[in-house]
Amino acid sequence: MTALDLDALKAEGVTVLLLDVDNTVSPHHSAEVIPGIRDWIASLGPLGFRACLVSNNWHDDIHERAAALGLPVVAKAGKPLPFGIRRAIRLLAVRKSECVMVGDQIFTDVLGGKLAGVRTVLVEPLTPSDMGHTMVLRRLEQRIMANRRPEA
Ligand SMILES: [Mg+2]
Repeated sequence: MTALDLDALKAEGVTVLLLDVDNTVSPHHSAEVIPGIRDWIASLGPLGFRACLVSNNWHDDIHERAAALGLPVVAKAGKPLPFGIRRAIRLLAVRKSECVMVGDQIFTDVLGGKLAGVRTVLVEPLTPSDMGHTMVLRRLEQRIMANRRPEA
């Protein structure tokens, strides 16, 4: 995720990064905040970006992670349904055209972003470990992606 081309996003008019949490911002099943990612998130403000976590996670620790990063959060987002992403857009009072949904999964983050009408960027997952149902989707993703790679 830290490899995102922020200059290119800015040139496209993006001011808000909607960030998936599990395996995008922090490893799955972990409240750990990776220093490199915390620093990258802290660097967004001075560059003219705002960020909001948008997670399907429903556990309390999602709020702790958001607090640790100093970011607002929409939990239980229900991606790929577009409602959680729309909630984040309303929360930040921005236009859809200013937002990009960033995440590690095609069937939740990218599809959800498309359905909500925002730009999307697929990023490399932080760790290869996932929940069971995610592993099934990963195999489908591998078929769809073939030899292509995530953008960042
Ligand atoms: Mg994820």
